[in-house]
Amino acid sequence: MSGGAIRSVKGTRDLLPPETEVWAAVEATARRVFSSYGYGEIRTPVLEETELFVRGVGEGTDIVGKEMYTFADKKGRSLTLRPESTAAVARAFVEHGMAEWPTPVKLYYIGPHFRYERPQRGRYRQFFQIGAELVGDEGPLSDAELLLMLVGFLGALEFDDLVVRLNTLGDEAARSRYRAALTEYLRPFAAELSDDSRRRLDENPLRILDTKAPRERELLAGAPRLDACLDEKSREHFATVRRILDRFEVAHSVEPGLVRGLDYYTSTVFEIASAGLGAQDAIVGGGRYDGLIADLGGPAVPAIGFAIGQDRLIDVLPESFRRRHLPRTPVVVTPAGLVDAGALLALAGELRSAGLAVTMELTGRSVKAALKRAHRSGVRFVVLAGEEELELGRAQLKDLETGTQTELPRAALAAAILEAT
Ligand code: AMP
Repeated sequence: MSGGAIRSVKGTRDLLPPETEVWAAVEATARRVFSSYGYGEIRTPVLEETELFVRGVGEGTDIVGKEMYTFADKKGRSLTLRPESTAAVARAFVEHGMAEWPTPVKLYYIGPHFRYERPQRGRYRQFFQIGAELVGDEGPLSDAELLLMLVGFLGALEFDDLVVRLNTLGDEAARSRYRAALTEYLRPFAAELSDDSRRRLDENPLRILDTKAPRERELLAGAPRLDACLDEKSREHFATVRRILDRFEVAHSVEPGLVRGLDYYTSTVFEIASAGLGAQDAIVGGGRYDGLIADLGGPAVPAIGFAIGQDRLIDVLPESFRRRHLPRTPVVVTPAGLVDAGALLALAGELRSAGLAVTMELTGRSVKAALKRAHRSGVRFVVLAGEEELELGRAQLKDLETGTQTELPRAALAAAILEAT
């Protein structure tokens, strides 16, 4: 069989240097900020039993209904590449008896997730999420602390135009009252709804609130509001969360239509977007899921969490953070004429110890060819060292940007380069 070159699978992509440096810096920042709030990292498997997501995320959701990478393994077991991690963390919580750990249990994760979506800008079939879950406390302080941590993390990435959108879904009884009211209101308009929304009318009417269709938005403007159905406890809980955010000057708006796409959310839900993006472009979504762990066969333990889309986050990352974390372009050390390779390696070693990124010209190119190549790869400084200079403890420093060439004592090279960059 003859074939062309093999390409990456549709909807997946390779991340290459130097961009991977930016990814690593974002991850290092997440680890630093989350651990300062007492969170520890959890690494769950990429593969889970399909049943986990069907029960955990919910059959009526787009994720479970259309987007899962599900397949039978060699023994015929139905497995799924994780489309999200909250259900997996909840499974691990139950499996490892974490209800016995000191509460609340605070966990974060970073890694690839998979959804069979139509690939488009910013949407991939393999994408990355950075998420955190606080398990074992139901109080509003936990919601507020989690949100402050999230805003602190995004602040550390130098975002300064964040929009925090909040809502409360109330307790189960409130949601059930609201579902009934919404269905009753929308039923007479069923013929005007999209196929998706009509299906949701029976399966998951709250999801219709997420619609972008203009006619449906118009209809929804007259729909009963969730806040009219709320229970007193949820109202107070929500008010306390907002008070704490105000106290820390976290600007936020209440969005009565914000319901989030997954079945497990209860009480507080939120999204954060960057004002520079359209309204649809949340970088983070999250909320409370007080019933999920019990639904998965564990004890009744309340929890709250969020997931950040890392691909999206990196797409809109402030330029200042990106610039600081892109690697410095390396200094190239080039032999000028006959030089002992060991002496050249030692010189490169000195520059590396001083904090510079250094590559060596190892191919035996002529000085002219080496300079040309360095120029093409965007390198600014080339250190030229010949036998004679090295013996005298000196080298030539060529600045390709200004075209100048200076002879310096080798001990002064690193300082001269660092000063100029
Ligand atoms: P969700 O788990 O659906 O609440 O999504 C959380 C975040 O993950 C979203 O805000 C998106 O930024 C990101 N996300 C979800 N699906 C994808 C995808 N297919 N490609 C890239 N990012 C995604």
